[in-house]
Amino acid sequence: MTPAETPRSEFEIIAAIRDAARGPRRADVTLGIGDDGAVLSPPPGHELIFTTDLLVEDRHFRLGEGGASGFDVGWKSLAVSISDVAAMGGRALWAVASVALPAARTGGFTDDLAQGLTACAQHYGVALVGGDTTGTPGPVIVNVALVGAVPTGRAVRRDGARAGDAICVTGALGGSLAGRHLRPNPRQDIALSLVQRCAVHAMIDLSDGLSSDLGHVLDASGVGAQVWADRVPVHDDARLSSATSGRPPLAHALHDGEDFELLFTVDTATARDLVRDGVCATTVSCVGRITAQRDYLLLPSRDADARGEPMGRGGHDHFRPA
Ligand code: ADP
Ligand code: MG
Repeated sequence: MTPAETPRSEFEIIAAIRDAARGPRRADVTLGIGDDGAVLSPPPGHELIFTTDLLVEDRHFRLGEGGASGFDVGWKSLAVSISDVAAMGGRALWAVASVALPAARTGGFTDDLAQGLTACAQHYGVALVGGDTTGTPGPVIVNVALVGAVPTGRAVRRDGARAGDAICVTGALGGSLAGRHLRPNPRQDIALSLVQRCAVHAMIDLSDGLSSDLGHVLDASGVGAQVWADRVPVHDDARLSSATSGRPPLAHALHDGEDFELLFTVDTATARDLVRDGVCATTVSCVGRITAQRDYLLLPSRDADARGEPMGRGGHDHFRPA
């Protein structure tokens, strides 16, 4: 065994994470890692958004050759929750990280995990204020719970889409499995800037894929949608994936998960401005419109006379047999 693989005790592991997480004192953290619980002070005039996400080895990530590093797993375990808070128009504040580690992963892997977790926390202004640590005979499991804040009454929900709204997405979509999925960059600044600048009716982050995530907005809002194929921003990685999968790049852009871009609906005049200007140097595309009729359709283009085809929902379901 190399020194990096020498099993460490629970207390050594916690000390390693605590040391990695050490940063400048924050006014909103009265007490962080080290006691039975953290003591935190919410910003006045805000409501809290509380979310959690669980990553399991060989289900959400693979370790070793060609797979994720410990740093990747640490980064992503927090990033996915920051993306959820951002998609509600909130700012991420405090996280706890709980880990189940097989003995062989308590050395160098854990150091890398702590580095990735704290790098992501620092990048997005999140304080890591606690967690739990246990051994396990099974795979690595990392669970992060995150609290964010949003001005009272201003959380952007999935159920606010209205007939006639423009459907917009940030960035470009598809093919994240080519590598982007390992270190997602949640669009927190973009989301905060968006909600400051205009009335966002509904918003969701693209974790399962456009077809599936827009479907959640439609279900929650009780509306339908037309998506215009020629307006969907296709990422270069979607073309790469297409070369090996044999599926069209558009299919990757519509149905691949883990883009962690934002999908939101606004009125059409607002959409026109956003498409022209972008947000925080990121492109915004208008990919379709919300309809009162509940159909969920893919059309070749906005002006197509041709009838649309039903949009299949391509998202991943952990309990659906492969
Ligand atoms: P308790 O027995 O009261 O649950 P622990 O010994 O589990 O306390 O944890 C001690 C301190 O270390 C607590 O403040 C806890 O939040 C923190 N902690 C434990 N595991 C982690 C972790 N994986 N990441 C961050 N902080 C942790
Ligand atoms: Mg504990």
